[in-house]
Amino acid sequence: MSIEWNIQAPACTCTACQKTFNDGDQLCSLLQFGAEGYARHDYCTACWAEKERAGATGVWQGVFRAPAPPPDEPLKKETAESLLRHMMETEDEKHGNAIFILAVMLERRRILVERDVQTREDGVKIRIYEHKKTNETFIIPDPELKLAELTHVQEEVVLLLGGTPPKKAEAKTEEKTATDEHGSNTDGA
Ligand SMILES: [Zn+2]
Repeated sequence: MSIEWNIQAPACTCTACQKTFNDGDQLCSLLQFGAEGYARHDYCTACWAEKERAGATGVWQGVFRAPAPPPDEPLKKETAESLLRHMMETEDEKHGNAIFILAVMLERRRILVERDVQTREDGVKIRIYEHKKTNETFIIPDPELKLAELTHVQEEVVLLLGGTPPKKAEAKTEEKTATDEHGSNTDGA
């Protein structure tokens, strides 16, 4: 089975009544797994109340945010978010671990919010994140990394982001960099 990383943008209209959402409207989002993979459906609160009576589950509530124009940043170094998007586009299995780590990084930075965890038929855990600003849904299989793998992948990702992987066990804070580098780094194995 192929890996489906997937980004689903919020619909601009209600799936049921086709009402166009306005900025700030409440909406209910439902993710369904079908033959074509995941499909996201957004409903206005009135239509959702009806679906709910019909027994629909797996939903989260959100607020519709009208899409902002893309920021015209000059091409500078890759951010965790742009790297995640690029990697998800490649649909290359070898990026699976890095994609997951990037999603976790973005969750810590409160750019993504975890909305749901589903277990696919083949037992793979699927984490469903929502982008706080754009309301896009990021569907990311959890590779369930072991601690050793985790550290390795984290280092890889930091390198890709143009940083220096921490030499010690883990980076404590990101802001604190190279405050104290006067050659006291004698590991002497
Ligand atoms: Zn509706």
